[in-house]
Amino acid sequence: MPLYDKQTIKIYNSLSGEKDIFKPLNDGYVGMYVCGPTVYSNVHLGNVRTFMSFDVIFRYLKQLGYKVRYVRNITDAGHLENDADEGEDRIAKKARLEAIEPMEVVQRYTVDFHNILNKFNFLPPSIEPTATGHIIEQIEIIKSIIDNGLAYEVNGSVYFDVHKYNETKQYGILSKRKLEDLIHNTRALDGQSDKKNPQDFALWKKAEPQHIMRWPSPWSDGFPGWHLECTAMSTKYLGEQFDIHGGGMDLKFPHHECEIAQAVATNNQAPVNYWMHANMLIMNGKKMAKSTGNFILPNEIFSGENPHITKAYSPSVARFFMLQAHYRSILDFTNNGLLASEKGFFRLMDAINLIDDLNTSDASTFDVSAWKKKCYDAMNDDFNTPILIATLFDAAKFINQVKDGSATVTKEDFELLKETLYTFTFDVLGLVNVAKENSSTDKLSGAVEILINLRKEARLNKDFALSDKIRDELAEAGIQLNDSRDGTTFTTN
Ligand code: AMP
Ligand code: ZN
Repeated sequence: MPLYDKQTIKIYNSLSGEKDIFKPLNDGYVGMYVCGPTVYSNVHLGNVRTFMSFDVIFRYLKQLGYKVRYVRNITDAGHLENDADEGEDRIAKKARLEAIEPMEVVQRYTVDFHNILNKFNFLPPSIEPTATGHIIEQIEIIKSIIDNGLAYEVNGSVYFDVHKYNETKQYGILSKRKLEDLIHNTRALDGQSDKKNPQDFALWKKAEPQHIMRWPSPWSDGFPGWHLECTAMSTKYLGEQFDIHGGGMDLKFPHHECEIAQAVATNNQAPVNYWMHANMLIMNGKKMAKSTGNFILPNEIFSGENPHITKAYSPSVARFFMLQAHYRSILDFTNNGLLASEKGFFRLMDAINLIDDLNTSDASTFDVSAWKKKCYDAMNDDFNTPILIATLFDAAKFINQVKDGSATVTKEDFELLKETLYTFTFDVLGLVNVAKENSSTDKLSGAVEILINLRKEARLNKDFALSDKIRDELAEAGIQLNDSRDGTTFTTN
């Protein structure tokens, strides 16, 4: 009996608003599509978080024995600046600013994306299609939607007729929005648009003369709409209906709503059974985003060169930090959070590194089978990685107790413990057993942390002369202390 038949996974489905029992369309197989990056800039840690959530889901489904086809695309055209139908193509804009070809932009940032994901120990998806490689498929879908009376052409561009669609189907089914409310909340047309209604969205846009990224079509030389790309690529590789579609929460509307409308308008059936949305990484109370400048790059975490952090962190520590939050919770990026995760990560690795030194005996003082079940239960409950990690710490504690003689384990339980611990730590969570770094920056952080704690004690004792002395003398030595609600961090100059 395959492992997946022994486990029941529940997935929070944005479509139903509930945790649904996961039942794939074809027994033993899973089709999963995740919206990939728009490759016009370096991926930031927020992007990485969303992709990491799905990397772990992919890993767990594979661990259960499913044959998973995981498709994650590369958006290399058609994603306009404001996520709507106006504004410049993000990639073309970058190419213009840097005086290089759009495909040079695409190449540069696709390579960066892969490098970063490799450093974080991501598994490659099964297929990584590009939008520009699927223009023909997109044109075919537009033709079907026009034939079905749900899209119209104006001046070489083609728009999806949201109002017409909503007469018989439900636009807003995923994001729980009502078309009447959307109408109420949008500005009146300024007369510049070709659209019948502001809620309509572009399937094909005629390219202005200066627009370099253009392809021939029955309507004009132009380019496809961003939403259409994902419909074309998911349908091509996973079929008209597939199991899981994922992406960040910010893509639910309009992007995923439009994907549903396009697929229903083409095939008259809902394309996806389980819609999954990952929550945002925030920093300083705001969403991490390229456009606002409120972001941190993964390489800055690995080098420690960013004012938000006091030291370098290994990719596995950053991975551990992100997986200590559930994928549907908001995660606040802070240096203190990373420091705490680093301690936890090495506590777990230290226990794993001890395991082969353990002596076994005739009885176990820990129910390893029940513990193993808890690991699976955590992941079966909507991929709850924080609960899984807490459960792994139960094992770490037990290992330390066996080591110091206050607990015992049988040979059989030892084998089960080791195998399960390795499976969940390395195969499912994708952590890497890196050696504890002992660089001079780490030593400096350790020393400053001691002074920060002494200063805290001084303040609690109302010895403000001492606390100020610590702060001022550190400043003279080129180390600034920064106090905030979350505690004190430091920066060096
Ligand atoms: P983009 O390249 O902008 O299309 O984004 C790629 C992926 O990153 C999408 O799934 C977004 O939802 C996701 N994303 C963007 N910002 C964040 C953030 N701050 N936290 C988590 N995911 C994000
Ligand atoms: Zn998409």
